[in-house]
Amino acid sequence: MTTLLLLLAVLMLPVSVSAQVSASTNPLWHESKTRNYLPHMTWPEVRDLRTRTDMVIIPVAAMEQHSLHLPIGTDFLNGLERAKLVAQKADVLVAPILLPGNSPYHMEFPGTITLSSQTIQQVYFEAAQSLMKHGFRRFLLLNSHGGNQIITRYIADRINQETEGIAVELGEAAAPFLTRAPQPADGTARVFDRHGGVGETSTSLYMTPNLVDLEAARRATLTMPEHLQKMLPEVVAGDPTATLVFLAEGLKATATGKGTSTREISDTGTWGLRDPREATAEAGRRDTENFVQAAVKFIERWNQLRPMR
Ligand SMILES: [Zn+2]
Repeated sequence: MTTLLLLLAVLMLPVSVSAQVSASTNPLWHESKTRNYLPHMTWPEVRDLRTRTDMVIIPVAAMEQHSLHLPIGTDFLNGLERAKLVAQKADVLVAPILLPGNSPYHMEFPGTITLSSQTIQQVYFEAAQSLMKHGFRRFLLLNSHGGNQIITRYIADRINQETEGIAVELGEAAAPFLTRAPQPADGTARVFDRHGGVGETSTSLYMTPNLVDLEAARRATLTMPEHLQKMLPEVVAGDPTATLVFLAEGLKATATGKGTSTREISDTGTWGLRDPREATAEAGRRDTENFVQAAVKFIERWNQLRPMR
């Protein structure tokens, strides 16, 4: 009996120890250490990673309204999580630099933070220079927000033109390696669906499920200027000229007078005509896995074409 009690006491020991630890540490901390994720690493781990790779993924993010049901940090979180998933397979560094990006056309919704393109490019450029000091040479800029597209290209161009570093945009680099999904037979692919819509909500349901409030979601009522409204069928059909002209004018700050800021064209903040409640984590998983395998293939090809220095 005594032996049994002793055995029980020994068995219970680790439980009570771990309970003590969780009672005396930050109850809000739920992250576990993620490999190759710079904020979680020690400097010796960074030094050791550099002996295996000279590549860094830098997410280019945004902090902006994402309709009634998605968090303000959607673009930051989804981009960062994608980068982390790629880095688990390709063994490269992930270095988040900024949370906000260029989002002036979302400013009429509470919570959006926007920085000028000059500020953003300068911050990322200087961060890349810091990483170069530690021996990192190749930069994979992963943009997760449409409004940062040109800025991201400019950062890559500055790195390529002005430093010993080499930079590409990872979305663009991975594109040729994506598996083309067959178009759904129900015709939903022919319905306009962009910011805060079904695609983005699906990604969030996969990446950060507990931050999505699907019950708060509803189909947006869009009030675009008439000439843009008329272009929609051709835009959705993939007409390149209609898309170019549509996007040149669509989603611009209220101060431009174009009448196309999100507040002016959407009652919920979603820029799309599908109901976000059609989103599924499964669709988000398929998209994410498709991207991750494509990004890893690009990295492998880049290493073949140009081995690490
Ligand atoms: Zn977004």
